[in-house]
Amino acid sequence: MPKKPPALPDRTWVEIDRGALRHNLNAVRKLAGKAGIMAVVKANAYGHGLEEVVQVLDCGVEVFAVASLGEALQLRKILKRVPILLLSAALPSEYGEIARCGFIPTLSSAKEASLYTRSAPKGAPIHFKVDTGMGRLGVLPGKAIPTMKAILKAGLSVHSISTHLSSADNDEKTTRHQLATFADLLDELHYLAPEASIHALNSAGAMQHASEEGDLIRIGLALYGVSPLPAFQKLLRPVLSWKARITFLNDIPKGHRVSYGGTFTAPHAMKVAVLPAGYADGYPRQVSGKGAAVLIRGKRCPVIGRVTMDQIIVDVSKVRGVCIGDEAVLVGKQGREELAATEVAAKADTIPWHLFCGITGRVAYRYKG
Ligand SMILES: *Cc1c(COP(=O)(O)O)cnc(C)c1O
Repeated sequence: MPKKPPALPDRTWVEIDRGALRHNLNAVRKLAGKAGIMAVVKANAYGHGLEEVVQVLDCGVEVFAVASLGEALQLRKILKRVPILLLSAALPSEYGEIARCGFIPTLSSAKEASLYTRSAPKGAPIHFKVDTGMGRLGVLPGKAIPTMKAILKAGLSVHSISTHLSSADNDEKTTRHQLATFADLLDELHYLAPEASIHALNSAGAMQHASEEGDLIRIGLALYGVSPLPAFQKLLRPVLSWKARITFLNDIPKGHRVSYGGTFTAPHAMKVAVLPAGYADGYPRQVSGKGAAVLIRGKRCPVIGRVTMDQIIVDVSKVRGVCIGDEAVLVGKQGREELAATEVAAKADTIPWHLFCGITGRVAYRYKG
């Protein structure tokens, strides 16, 4: 018998808290009121791990949404019966497989509808999108009614009618305008397709408008415990933490330079720690020189010099008793300190959505709860 190789310790890993996911699902359900939930699990459930996430959400949501056919097929292997909606436009060459699997494609034009009917049986469900200001997918409002008529004439059935908000987390005026434009069309669209569900709200939109709009809300980020609007963060619990173990400690003298390009010079003698996570793991290189930190023994330790492909260097001068093997938190809580995903993302001039789905396959995943 060949000997089983010893399990290697994780150098850097993500912890997914299923309890927090359940908590957020309940919080979102309360927010939704009478509306149902379309759980957005594209991009490997925002980097949280598709399989584990959808198993927790399965009983609590009405529809799952992914970006692409590939993602829908992955999800279908895990959950056999749930409705799966494709948020991104499909390629005509994907239509046959979409129809065969009963997925719900997003259509925004009569052209797409007529192509889709070549592959899809009579009555196949589709999702009809109106562009009220996102400028991505969707039919322009002036053409919405004739396009809907063409879709119905082609023999397709309308699972849902939606629009997408471009600025729900930062521009209430634009959001109100988009929702009003959508509402103006709905009487007639709903008259044409009375069985269709209506949805317009993403996480930020749902936080401010859930009581007013639609049969479903399309929720991504909030399920993962991060609020796009700071005022609602207290309702949610972050699901993901990111950790790494110290692999090396060093004492460096005043004037010593740190990392590529020598952009950081020690202003005094320092103790530094090396962590085995870098931009190849998804830790954003853009935080270099921006005052990012990690948590070690409950203390904030500044990231110094440039983030490299496999490692970062942190200042641990103020951490008493620091040792090789100590756990460092890159995103998440330790003791009384917290590094929220939103904060880490902001140091990289980006958003928590981007930070989450940037975490790469080199990082191990541990599920708890
Ligand atoms: C990704 C996506 C969402 C989810 O947005 P969150 O801000 O993460 O809640 C909703 N609708 C569409 C069309 C999307 O592409």
